[in-house]
Order: sequence, then C-alpha cells, then structure tokens
Amino acid sequence: MASWAASSMRAPGPAAAPVGRRRFIKGGLGAAGLAAAAPLLAACGDDSDDVPTADPLPADAPAATDERIVIVGAGAAALAAADELQIRGFHNVVLLEARDRVGGRIWTSSIGDGIPVELGATWIHGVRGNPVSDIVESNGMTTAETDYDNAVLYDHDGRPAEPVDAALWGEYMALAYEMPEASLRDVFERFASIHDLGEDDRRLWRYSLASMFSHEFGADISDLSILSYDGPSTLRGGDVVFPEGYSQIVDVLAAGRDIRLDHPVAQVDHSGSTVVVTTESGGTFEADRVVVTVPLGVLKAGTISFTPVLPPAMRDAIAALDMGILNRTCLLFDEPFWDRDTEWIGYAGERPGQWSETLNLYPYLGRPVLAMFNPGSFGAEIEQYSDEELTGRAVEALRAMFGDVPEPVDALSTRWGSDPWTRGSYSYLPVGVEFDTYRDMARPVGERLFFAGEATHSRFPSTVHGALLSGRRAARQIYGLLR
Ligand SMILES: Cc1cc2nc3c(=O)[nH]c(=O)nc-3n(C[C@H](O)[C@H](O)[C@H](O)COP(=O)(O)OP(=O)(O)OC[C@H]3O[C@@H](n4cnc5c(N)ncnc54)[C@H](O)[C@@H]3O)c2cc1C
Repeated sequence: MASWAASSMRAPGPAAAPVGRRRFIKGGLGAAGLAAAAPLLAACGDDSDDVPTADPLPADAPAATDERIVIVGAGAAALAAADELQIRGFHNVVLLEARDRVGGRIWTSSIGDGIPVELGATWIHGVRGNPVSDIVESNGMTTAETDYDNAVLYDHDGRPAEPVDAALWGEYMALAYEMPEASLRDVFERFASIHDLGEDDRRLWRYSLASMFSHEFGADISDLSILSYDGPSTLRGGDVVFPEGYSQIVDVLAAGRDIRLDHPVAQVDHSGSTVVVTTESGGTFEADRVVVTVPLGVLKAGTISFTPVLPPAMRDAIAALDMGILNRTCLLFDEPFWDRDTEWIGYAGERPGQWSETLNLYPYLGRPVLAMFNPGSFGAEIEQYSDEELTGRAVEALRAMFGDVPEPVDALSTRWGSDPWTRGSYSYLPVGVEFDTYRDMARPVGERLFFAGEATHSRFPSTVHGALLSGRRAARQIYGLLR
C-alpha cells in the first residue's frame, strides 16, 4: 500500500520541495481525489523521469581556455558549475565562499561521539534520473531508503490519532485548485465551513496541512497557494538518505578546486569589459565572467551590491519569491523511548506546525537520535531562543506525546533564518506569484554575469538536484559563448 499511496499522492500536484510527506492521508489518495485533481495533471508541467545532467561535448569543442571565471559561493550549484566548466576546458576558475566551509545548505554536522546528523539537505528526492544519484553511484556511496508512510501520529494529549481521510483530502485539494489565487489557509477555512468541522477535526487538519505544505515549503499555509505546491516537478524512484552524511556529495565535487574560504563577496562590478568582484575585506578579483550562486535570501538582503544594478525583471523576481524556513533540533538520547523502527512521529498539538514532525534517525544510524522540525513563522520565532530553551521545548513536546522522557545527552539546533549566508532554508513561491518568476532568476546579464542556485531552477527549485543542474546550466551558458 505504501508505495501505491505515495506515488498516487504525488500525482495531483508534482511538488518537489525538500520534505515530501504523504502518510498523514489515511489510505492514500483514492480515485475520488485523483478525479478531483485530474484537470491539473495536464496543466502542471513535466514530471519527467529523465534529467539531462550535461550535454555531451561536441566533437568541435574548444580546447582549454584561459578565461578567468569567478564563482561566488561554494554550495552545490557553485561546485557543479566548477565541475562542468572543468569538463569543458576551463582551468582558471576560482570559488569565493563566505563561510569557513564548503557545501552551503548541504551540511553534515555531528552529535554525541561523532554521530553524523544533517543540518540542511537530508534526502535525495526521487533517485531516478537525479544528478545526486549519479554522484552516489559513481562513487559507491551508501544510501538508505526512507518511507514517509512508516509513521505514527499523536494527538495533543498524547493519544494515538488517525490521519485525515483520503477522500476528504481529495476534496480539499479539489477546492484548492478551484481557488488558485487564495491562500491554502483561506481554502481550509472555506472547506471547514462546508464540512462544519469541529475543533478536534480542525486540529488534525491543521496538523495535516502543516505537514503537507508548511514542512515542504518552510512557510505558513497563509503564505502559500496551491500554485506554490503545483509548480515544481518531481523525480521518481523514492527518496533516500545518507547514513554517512550528505556532505560526501560536496567532498567529491569540491576535491581539487581553487576555493577561497572566508571570502564574503560584497560587490560585483560588471560595468566594464571585465568583472571586478570585491570581498568584504576589500580584496578584488578580476574575471572575464562571474557566476553568482548565493541564495535568494542573500540577494533579497542586498548583501552584494551590483554595478550596474540587476535588470528590473530580476529585481522583481528577487522581491516576489520568498525564502522559507525549516529549522531542526536534533536530540541524542541514551536509549530510544520510542519505537525504533517507526520513521516519522507526528504530533497534532494545539498550535499547528509546532514540533509537529519528528524524524527518527534510528533506522538509518542505529543510534537514538531524533530530528524535530519547525517550519515557517514558528520556525523563525524559535531562532531567538537559546539552545537550552530550544532543547527544553523540544523535550516538552516529546513529553506531551510519550509521557516520561529523559533529558537528552546532546542536542543541536539550526537557525537558518538568521544565517547571514542564506537567510532562510530554501525558496518558495508565495501566494499570488506566478511560477514563471523562477525563470527570471536564471537569465544571464549580458555576457559576463551568470546566475545559479536552487532559486534559479524553474523545474526543481529548493532542492539539491535543482541547485546542481542550475550550476551546470550556468557553465554551459558560458561555454556556449565561446563556441
Ligand atoms: C533545512 C534544510 C533542509 C533541506 N532538505 C533538503 C532535502 O532533503 N533534499 C534536497 O534536495 N534539498 C534540501 N534542501 C535544499 C538544498 O539544501 C538546497 O536547495 C541546496 O543545497 C542549495 O544549493 P545552492 O548552491 O543553491 O545554495 P547554497 O548551498 O546555499 O550555496 C550558496 C553558497 O553561497 C555562499 N554565500 C552566500 N553569500 C555569499 C557572499 N556574499 N559571498 C560569498 N559566498 C556567499 C553560502 O555560504 C553558500 O555556501 C534543504 C535545505 C535546508 C536548509
């Protein structure tokens, strides 16, 4: 049942955001739900299994070139751009990275005695035709399959709860597609009044909506519409995690490159015949072409000044798209007090989206570690808490579900919203914004300035594979100019 339910849930709207959740729908999305959503299947764009990772090099490919390329950032997009440029004969490529590490939003840290935990990207979403899978396969990395339907749900008082019914979920989705201009919250208010939902039902619905949408996009349902969900494409083949860390992908791509860490870029001057990139400390790098891969949040914050300013369409796109927040608190315990084989622990608390999703890492790590997620405005709010306060609140939520819960032996929390080098977790399409806006993020400015990064990929935004593909695209755009 699980796999059928999973694939059928995806069919109505091919979302590709970081955390794909389906299990809270009892029995999967049945025929009623599919029929309700059918008109959109044709309209929602490609859901192809095949992703071109790189065009083959033509027979008349130019020989090695001395062009000076500067890449701003050293995350997935930047590293893929560097790799593609190298394949295409560019050997004068420098990456300027603000942090003291590579990888950006791929970040495997550790808890306890060196147990690897992901603070950023966790899953390969859809292994078939996925460029991340290509790297896994060619380097013999280990991955572990995950099952979103292997889950348990607790109500606010700790009693086991039933997920919302699939047929009703289908009705909600159909209503959402009838109201594409409305927020998913407004759709729910309408739905709740049609069905005269009482407080208990509403709580379970709010949990399901937070799980399905807020955890996917890092935004409250009042900020999302069905178009936020419907725009991105998905890849098939199931989702996997890296028991030994996602950063292995980064390590492979970063090996042997000229990466300057602790080099935050403050200015990109592309007014002349070359581009001058200036770092915060005043260092300058002159380049023939520059690839900017910094996150949308950094562009929104104006951390880098561009001379001349970016074209209006791009500035509009930067203003229109938004950065979601998904924070996590990882807790290590002496022993599991939860079922060690159940992957997901849901909590339909009084406040939707607060400590409502916990991933049990025991099945992948063999160690008693829980990762508790908080998205959207609550995810942003908790960034002000101290580490101790955050851990205390996490344990409080676990006690609401499990009763007597011991103190964790170690804890680790993220604060992606206040991280100056990303200012959010990943991009999303806010209510009222056209999905095509993503395309405006990807257009080169003249022949000198190129853009890559998850928020520039119009099919797979907010994913690692989108970031990788965008980097290769930027490299091919540069290469195309020389032919
Ligand atoms: C909590 C979380 C969970 C996620 N889960 C998943 C998942 O399970 N699966 C998935 O596919 N994706 C997931 N994602 C999304 C995925 O991690 C990103 O889409 C992808 O890693 C983005 O890569 P990028 O190269 O576009 O950006 P980044 O990785 O952010 O790289 C940009 C780089 O630019 C650097 N930079 C910023 N400003 C400057 C400056 N001024 N000068 C120089 N350098 C600068 C940054 O430090 C960073 O290294 C998740 C992200 C988060 C945060």
